[in-house]
Amino acid sequence: MTKEKEKTWQEIPIGGLITEAGNAQKYKTGDWRTFKPVRDEAKCTNCLICWIYCPDSAIIIQDGKIKEIDYDHCKGCGICEKVCPLKCIKMEK
Ligand code: SF4
Ligand code: SF4
Repeated sequence: MTKEKEKTWQEIPIGGLITEAGNAQKYKTGDWRTFKPVRDEAKCTNCLICWIYCPDSAIIIQDGKIKEIDYDHCKGCGICEKVCPLKCIKMEK
């Protein structure tokens, strides 16, 4: 994979505006995170409450079950830990 050339300050939009719609996938906002959610798969019943509340759509579902947490985009807000009724998500450094 070729690395995209970084833009100079003269080339980026004034005021940091995002002018290209649908470009969120390109930005690895997970880099902002200090704590990451770790799920205890053995305890998790796949009720998907954490998925409903995740503001970054970082909990990936496949066939009605949690497949993984997208750490490239999870910002570590900790909401999933708070809402899990079985306390099977822990925020870790
Ligand atoms: S809220 Fe808890 S039990 Fe429910 S899917 Fe998420 S981690 Fe699993
Ligand atoms: S910590 Fe926040 S962003 Fe990351 S998976 Fe949990 S709810 Fe989503």
